[in-house]
Amino acid sequence: MRIFGKIVLIAIGFVLINYPFIEGKSLYYISIERPDRLIRHLLTSLFALTIVELFAFTKMRYRIPLYGLFLFGSMTYLIYYFTTGSEPDYEDFRTLMDARVMIGHAALSYQGAIIQAILYHLPITVGFFLFPKIHMGWKGTLTAVMLYLLALAGILMIIYNKSGKGTNGRASFITPVAQVSTFTYLNFLRSNAASFEYHPRIAPTKADLLTPKAKNIIVVMDESIRGDMIEFNTPLGTTPALLDFPQDSLLNFGIVASFSNCSDTSNLAMRKLPRLHKEPSDLFVDTTTVWDIAKTAGFKPFIIDAQHNATGHNFYTDSELQDVTNIHGSTLKNDGEVIDIITNILAENSEPVFIYAGLKGSHFPFQNTGFATPFTPAMKNTNLADATSEEAMNSYKNLIRANTNEFFIKLQALLEQNPETIVIYTSDHGQDLSNPSSKKTHCDAKTTSMEEGLVPYILFANPEIIASDLVQTLQQNTGVTNQMITAPMIMDFMGYKPEVIESYTEYPALLNKTGKEIGFIYKRPIPHFRSEIERFDITPKDIQHFQETGKSDKQLEYNFFAD
Ligand SMILES: [Zn+2]
Repeated sequence: MRIFGKIVLIAIGFVLINYPFIEGKSLYYISIERPDRLIRHLLTSLFALTIVELFAFTKMRYRIPLYGLFLFGSMTYLIYYFTTGSEPDYEDFRTLMDARVMIGHAALSYQGAIIQAILYHLPITVGFFLFPKIHMGWKGTLTAVMLYLLALAGILMIIYNKSGKGTNGRASFITPVAQVSTFTYLNFLRSNAASFEYHPRIAPTKADLLTPKAKNIIVVMDESIRGDMIEFNTPLGTTPALLDFPQDSLLNFGIVASFSNCSDTSNLAMRKLPRLHKEPSDLFVDTTTVWDIAKTAGFKPFIIDAQHNATGHNFYTDSELQDVTNIHGSTLKNDGEVIDIITNILAENSEPVFIYAGLKGSHFPFQNTGFATPFTPAMKNTNLADATSEEAMNSYKNLIRANTNEFFIKLQALLEQNPETIVIYTSDHGQDLSNPSSKKTHCDAKTTSMEEGLVPYILFANPEIIASDLVQTLQQNTGVTNQMITAPMIMDFMGYKPEVIESYTEYPALLNKTGKEIGFIYKRPIPHFRSEIERFDITPKDIQHFQETGKSDKQLEYNFFAD
């Protein structure tokens, strides 16, 4: 009787945790009238439950580590589900791993989901450790472990056969373990890297140079700043500092498409200058970087990363930054301080410099302490799940006003003191805060919305540069502008010959394009699994609609149970 009670308690606890996954896929099979697959699905769920039941009847010295293994998988899966409203597939997992230095920030923003997941695990935990004296012999333990390994092998096969997909609705406590195993194998144990089609291109040389157009060239990549958050005409907005800027020394490209809706790929694109339709090859196979292009042109390269010192995220590697001066910025309090660093660099270097600066911007957690908060009502805490869309938006804006506006105030002073300086300002991706409790704000590869890939783009330079041929050509683009125009622009400013810029960047392909041909990438190339990309459909009309209403009304639908 006691044993039966324990079995039932574990079963209830298991169903409590896994109900949305089991139910969702079941309803899907019912809707497509596939009773065979429905039965198979329910049987695999029962199999997963059997493994947990067996785990709970092992000797205590095995039961504790097996519980740890169960908890690791199950908690990770459930927290992700509560946070984003969808189950993590391998690509989601990989995105998390690539952004693992941000984990502290994510934990602050998603405390609610973590607490909820802990509560959901209470019944099964009680059942697990009930009656410690009742246990099986070594044969039972071995069977439990063998069945677990069998299930793990099954999930691994699904991940491989479906290029990282297909794990939705499967044993949630095993899937993250399978994803960790896959990630470890592909990143650390397998020697050959990506299987992308290679499109060679010739890196420019000193013979390809004319005269540089400026002494200092600075590319500023802000963080999570959506296109409409940069305001030029209201003292009450997020960036009133721009009202005081000399208007003949800046060119506003308006709202443009980011390279991708994820930080890492957009940041990598700024350093690899990929060509349209050849992105995977240029990002991950071609070895030439913007640092090489700068050095060839006689510009000393600097990186300032106000987030994580150019390590452990955004695909930075030590070998990439070998000849680059890396100035650590992660301890800075405000993005205005990045300008202080730049001022020092310019003062200390008489030769031309190229600086790539990644700002802190307005990434979650939208912590609103230590500065003025003009936009109200704001979030009461950093937990996105507790916030209404309006509160999240206001906290987001307060942070932009504190960081980005301060950056622009100091930038104006910097440009007055250093007129030989060109600055390109943009952001890595936008932000969708319409449903902060259950949709990813960016980097959503499934229910992607247009807001995730709309960013600002401003060129700060003297009037002659703004009137120059290439800048004018790029500005007169009748299609959607993508921030990929940065590549030809910086090469032009560094003094490369027009025909070299055209053959290296193939930028004419970027012009007068609309829709899926030029929108931001939401399905990214993933080393090992996905070599193709997909772009979000954005038209000039969509951008106009967004500008007028503050909403894109454009979001992809995704059937989570179909994989
Ligand atoms: Zn980002």
